[in-house]
Amino acid sequence: MVPFGCTNEAVLDKIDPLYYPPALTGLRGSHVGSYTDAHSRAWAEKSDWGATTALKEEYDLIVVGGGISGLSAAFFYQQEHGRDKKVLILDNHDDFGGHAKRNEHTVGDDTRLTFGGSQSLASPHTYSETARKLIEELGVDLDRFKTAYDFDFFKRNNLGAVTYFNKQKFGEDKVVKHPFCDYPWYVQGLQRPVLSHEEAAKQAPLSEKGKEQLLRVLKGGLHVLKVPKEGLQEYISTHSYFDYLRTTLGVDDSGVLEMARNSCADFSGAGADVMSIAEALECGVLGLDPLTLKDLIGEEEYENNIKEHGYIFDEGDQYIHHFPDGNATIARLLVKKMIPDVGEGDSAEDIILSKFNYSELDKSSNIVRIRLNSTVVNVVHGGDSNSASDVFVSYINDNRSYRIKGRGVVMACYNMMIPHIVPDLPNEQAAALRRNVKIPLQYTSVGLKNWRAMKEMGMGMAMSPGNMHKVVMMDFPVSMGGYNFTKTPDDPCVIQMIGCPFGETVGAPPVEQFREARHKMLGLKFKDYEKEIREHLSGMLPSELFQFDRDVESITVNRWAHGYAHSGHALYDPDMPEMARKGRQPFGRITIANVDSALSSYVNVAIDQAWRAVKELG
Ligand SMILES: Cc1cc2nc3c(=O)[nH]c(=O)nc-3n(C[C@H](O)[C@H](O)[C@H](O)COP(=O)(O)OP(=O)(O)OC[C@H]3O[C@@H](n4cnc5c(N)ncnc54)[C@H](O)[C@@H]3O)c2cc1C
Repeated sequence: MVPFGCTNEAVLDKIDPLYYPPALTGLRGSHVGSYTDAHSRAWAEKSDWGATTALKEEYDLIVVGGGISGLSAAFFYQQEHGRDKKVLILDNHDDFGGHAKRNEHTVGDDTRLTFGGSQSLASPHTYSETARKLIEELGVDLDRFKTAYDFDFFKRNNLGAVTYFNKQKFGEDKVVKHPFCDYPWYVQGLQRPVLSHEEAAKQAPLSEKGKEQLLRVLKGGLHVLKVPKEGLQEYISTHSYFDYLRTTLGVDDSGVLEMARNSCADFSGAGADVMSIAEALECGVLGLDPLTLKDLIGEEEYENNIKEHGYIFDEGDQYIHHFPDGNATIARLLVKKMIPDVGEGDSAEDIILSKFNYSELDKSSNIVRIRLNSTVVNVVHGGDSNSASDVFVSYINDNRSYRIKGRGVVMACYNMMIPHIVPDLPNEQAAALRRNVKIPLQYTSVGLKNWRAMKEMGMGMAMSPGNMHKVVMMDFPVSMGGYNFTKTPDDPCVIQMIGCPFGETVGAPPVEQFREARHKMLGLKFKDYEKEIREHLSGMLPSELFQFDRDVESITVNRWAHGYAHSGHALYDPDMPEMARKGRQPFGRITIANVDSALSSYVNVAIDQAWRAVKELG
């Protein structure tokens, strides 16, 4: 296939019409080839890329990074300065959207859509005016989700949250109909367990001592700390959840600690072993129901706490704002606004089934161009940063080096990468940017011929503390824009398997764990993932209902080696907010967007940071 996004117009005209990344399966997310040049630059400090072609192209704005933040920056720039302003967006992946990627699975004659990363608009009614206005301009009707989301789906099919204990870690393959944590309840409509804590602990495949400890944790709660109400918030913010388990509750059973460590899954991206009690509480980990805090510190302080830290969705803003392909719809809408010929459809609704034509993205006749498979390796001012009017951007595409000129640059890429590619940054700013070591996450989507086994097992979500994927779940039941969510258990569907690859050493500093896990993640091959998924699903689901080779049609392993922004943990790196503030300062004609700049991994934050970066350019 002709490498897409190459800069030779003659070749561009011949782009394979079959080039359509959303339908690719196998290793996706940070796909093979997307990070090679960036790692050569960052790890081996490579600077000799061979002969560089200085292109004649000139832009008003060059955006580094084609995620929601980069796309929003391009959109805002044109809105502020005129739709005739020329913009180029460069991204190292073979698809746009950053974490907001669309996965398509072909199962028989059916195409199933799902999210490859960024999944839903979380609490969109609390978004800033900037983000809300943009979402509205893109044609998103938030009220539409009240009918698009099938609230009754889980009840109708009697699907609840369970826990799968695997043989390898827990000695036997066993499903207990209790999640042992609060993680599942963000999925609206998922059925609550019928088993009592006592019965669930009894069924868990643990030693007698382990069962007794598990029950103690489930019944624990913050009152056992015996800290006066006035000092409680301070206490839980400065004390470790794992110390609370070990010291206050006397837990030493490895199975219970394993369950606890994995019980927050991707809410934070880090294991509960590095969390303060307050952080663990926000994530609803094993034994800590966030609502218990309300009783202890009072409603007002509890509400303030939530406002500050997020995570818990109130009834007025349920977690239902989910497009069939997740937040890829937001990315696609932004692209469609700026490059209208890319596909059919004008609103969020009618874009869902629109198949984009990728050969429209980088046409020389476009005012906005998106160039994929292009890793930026150098960004320098044309002279003194205080007075220069131009910035030169070098990027690598298909092993060739190119240079282009822009009047301004928005860096909407990973913040820790910026010091490697903007060599003239002030030292203090560069050091601050380097601190944002991103959190690895894994979102695997699996196309199934039917979900009869999940239905018979009453399984809407399975916490899986012993597996690489900590959670297996039915996709969100949303139908819109002509796309219908799976109807009966005999119809094809997609399930999601979510993994947070922590480091091996319990309690090691989060940043060390992220690095170790990322290294391991990038070393795995597709066959390693397939083996793991095969063992996981086959161990969890009864063989009379599920046969891997018969029932699994496709697997897309979205590896996000650089996933969430690292917002800092109270017990390890509480200075992260200060680092973000220092890091995101404008530098001459170069400004910095991306969620990393605000340490908060949400779509609205990506948009807000884009807006700030565009305004800073003037
Ligand atoms: C698995 C996962 C699930 C998530 N779920 C949600 C959710 O449900 N709701 C929510 O609101 N948020 C969610 N998020 C947070 C997500 O980060 C934001 O929603 C948003 O998509 C981030 O956009 P961004 O543009 O800031 O960053 P990114 O999406 O990371 O985009 C940055 C882009 O820059 C590219 N880049 C980096 N370096 C270079 C370079 N040198 N040259 C060229 N390109 C480069 C990157 O490869 C990437 O494509 C999730 C994140 C992950 C990882």
